[in-house]
Amino acid sequence: QRHNSTEPWFLDCLSCFPMQHLKEWVAVESDSVQPDLRREVIRMVTLAADRLRALGATVHSVNLGSHQLPDGQSVLLPPVILAELGQDPQKPTVCFYGHVDVQPAKKEDGWKTDPYTLTEINGNLYGRGATDNKGPVLAWINAVETFRALPVNLRFVIEGMEEAGSPGLQRLLEGERRRFLAAADCFVLSDNVWLSRRKPALTYGTRGSACFLVESGDKDLHSGTFGGIIHEPMTDLVALLDSLVDPTGHIRIPGIYDSVAALTEEERKLYESIEFDMEEHKSNSGVKRFLYDTKEEILLHLWRYPSLSIHGIEGAFHEPGIKTVIPAKVTGKFSIRQVPHMELSVIKQQVVEYLEDVFSKRKSPNKLSVSMPLGAKPWLADINDPVYTAARRAVRTVFREDPDFIRDGSTIPIARMFQTITQKSVIMLPIGAADDGEHSQNEKISRHNYIEGTKVFAAFFLEIAKLHEQLQQTSKTKTDN
Ligand SMILES: [Zn+2]
Repeated sequence: QRHNSTEPWFLDCLSCFPMQHLKEWVAVESDSVQPDLRREVIRMVTLAADRLRALGATVHSVNLGSHQLPDGQSVLLPPVILAELGQDPQKPTVCFYGHVDVQPAKKEDGWKTDPYTLTEINGNLYGRGATDNKGPVLAWINAVETFRALPVNLRFVIEGMEEAGSPGLQRLLEGERRRFLAAADCFVLSDNVWLSRRKPALTYGTRGSACFLVESGDKDLHSGTFGGIIHEPMTDLVALLDSLVDPTGHIRIPGIYDSVAALTEEERKLYESIEFDMEEHKSNSGVKRFLYDTKEEILLHLWRYPSLSIHGIEGAFHEPGIKTVIPAKVTGKFSIRQVPHMELSVIKQQVVEYLEDVFSKRKSPNKLSVSMPLGAKPWLADINDPVYTAARRAVRTVFREDPDFIRDGSTIPIARMFQTITQKSVIMLPIGAADDGEHSQNEKISRHNYIEGTKVFAAFFLEIAKLHEQLQQTSKTKTDN
């Protein structure tokens, strides 16, 4: 292969890439969801801290104490790593966030290989955490290692409880706003995947989530004795749930679309070039038909319009067989994925008023109560921000094509958290492909993506260093606002 002198030198030196660290990391069953594996999570965080020390970073392990499980049991939380490498005021400071815990995985769940033994098959590296998120964290560390002199200062926030909702992280970061986080000019996350199997992408937004409980009715009654003479709580609840969305997917709650940001021409254009295989998406998910026929409509409704999903009914009879019961107290559960510029408090009020109105028309003596126990805000970044420029250039250098600018339909609170707390630029720079299967059986990252992803990170350091001045100006305007 001929050496291209315009390429940074590191692009050629990564071909015999070490997989040893990824193997070691995947071998740790750092499942944060099951409390009895907490010791493994803590061991994993220690391994990550060791890797960072080996880079020459100053590592602080911040103890978060313990947290309480729903059953009242108290379990130790793994420490959060805050690490620093470089203090040169002439260079920009990039803060990377990643997590080293994983979702549960067992061979019996349908894995072809042992989930905790990194196994290469046809260029794919299979193992729990390979793409979510151990692979990308190591790729970032590998990228740092390729430099003799780093063009940037680095900060790391590495946690071990992401898959369990990151308890205590927000409070820790809020406390570090004027200390550890203050030096960072921008934040990089690589905890999601491309939309395509082949084409790289940069993510600039995620939807929020508002979860609701609707409760109606207290004593079980027999349908032979009471059926026909009472207002049944379940019938009321089904009517309430049925009133929420129409068959086209449109949310019926008045005013809910009022504050949804208008679609701009620039934004619409972005959707045209995105690589998205509708047929493949259908066959992967087993969905026969989507609500929309075009790629653009599907992505718009997945990313930048709200959606409402009904999740379940607590208290209803759901076992197999027949039981002629009239359930007394039933609780319906639904959530709204909300988007900029919807406000959680406004959504809540709209939902409560609407359901009360639907319920009052039924003239039922049952009691209705509506609550919103959980609300996470959406996140949206400006794709003209210097971090996106730098990332786009880095992707172009390595992959020889422009990335797709994509959003994510799910809720990833951490991006929003960094943005809200620091007011600095945040980018989600994924290196995994659409078919990596995070949270699923046979999770993998391809060897190609792992290596090219490392190169993208290294190229990003060089590009963001060139945009230092612009980055500082962007941060300044954001802080002034
Ligand atoms: Zn993750």
